[in-house]
Amino acid sequence: MQKTALMNTTTVKTRTDYTKLIKTNEPYILGDDSTIVYGADMREHTTFRIGGPADAFIEVTSPEGLVKAIAGARAARIPHFILGGGSNLLIDDCGVSGMVIKNRYKNITVLDPQSLNYLLPSLSPQESETAVFLLAGSGTKLSEIVNFACDNALTGCEFLAGIPGTLGGAVYGNAGAYGKSIGDLLVMAKLINDSSSISCVERDYFNFNYRTSRLKKSGECLLSAIIKLSRGDEKKIKTEVDKIITERHLKHPPEYIGCAGSFFKNVAPVTPNSRRIAAGYFLELAGAKDMKHGNAEVYSKHANFIINPGGATSAEVLNLAKKLKSKVLEKFGLMLEEEVLYIG
Ligand SMILES: Cc1cc2nc3c(=O)[nH]c(=O)nc-3n(C[C@H](O)[C@H](O)[C@H](O)COP(=O)(O)OP(=O)(O)OC[C@H]3O[C@@H](n4cnc5c(N)ncnc54)[C@H](O)[C@@H]3O)c2cc1C
Repeated sequence: MQKTALMNTTTVKTRTDYTKLIKTNEPYILGDDSTIVYGADMREHTTFRIGGPADAFIEVTSPEGLVKAIAGARAARIPHFILGGGSNLLIDDCGVSGMVIKNRYKNITVLDPQSLNYLLPSLSPQESETAVFLLAGSGTKLSEIVNFACDNALTGCEFLAGIPGTLGGAVYGNAGAYGKSIGDLLVMAKLINDSSSISCVERDYFNFNYRTSRLKKSGECLLSAIIKLSRGDEKKIKTEVDKIITERHLKHPPEYIGCAGSFFKNVAPVTPNSRRIAAGYFLELAGAKDMKHGNAEVYSKHANFIINPGGATSAEVLNLAKKLKSKVLEKFGLMLEEEVLYIG
């Protein structure tokens, strides 16, 4: 299985089928809470609604289930891929070789400050009065964290409102909006490391940067994370969240239209310390909004969104993306970089 942001539309694919090997190893892969479906249609598990079948689709709901699936796959040398909400992915029409491990390990707990004495010395006196630490399972949806924060008058994560997907996917790609990202909130985390055991790491370990983290290279799986919020005014928090969600509804396609968010990363600024420039700005000036390839189209309200109104294939999306990149390169001399991850 290849996971890459660089998309090559001309590669001829060879696809190994791991079904038999997975069946033989089921007892070493499936925890008590896990389920398995062979040949699952990946269109049903991604927001793009594109992708062929996965050899095996395994759903886990507990840390033990997640560790067992990963350890079992590694021991039997079966390629595997952790799926969160499937909201940042383009899966190839050929499907996925090996195992897709759908992470549904969800929970949110408010930590007792007494149990966090090791964190508190680093807080200012005012911060330690208002800081609240949440521990969340990596399969928890960002929307569940935002709703929990709203219901408990906790401020700090309003900017995550309306971003689809799970905590695990967000940390992997350092998801964010309005100049903030999940890495700003994360304090500590548990990872399933290379040897399939659990390690506890602090924020610096992740090397967070714009839409990236160490997890993109290390192959470690986020098991859970502690994020820092503060006590705030419930009404103000809810008003801010509602405002962000309304803005998003105006700019983004409705849920029944397939898409994976911004297709390209925003462009690094020329001068240090200034903000990135929206890739959509260059795409719009390059005439992207009128472009389509087969059933894949650029969304009329957002030039950096490629949409699947129905029936688009991964090849059509890749071809459209290639055309968009050429247009921007031709007009501005800029090489856009994909934000959406291609699995093929
Ligand atoms: C309408 C729309 C709007 C969007 N708006 C934004 C936005 O404003 N800002 C933004 O940043 N993104 C945005 N996105 C993109 C996407 O929602 C985010 O990137 C999100 O964080 C992806 O999370 P996910 O759980 O869906 O990850 P997935 O798409 O399932 O997976 C993405 C990657 O994360 C890895 N991964 C998942 N879980 C784990 C784990 N537990 N441990 C290690 N790796 C893991 C996967 O293996 C994969 O490589 C948008 C998408 C859509 C469809």
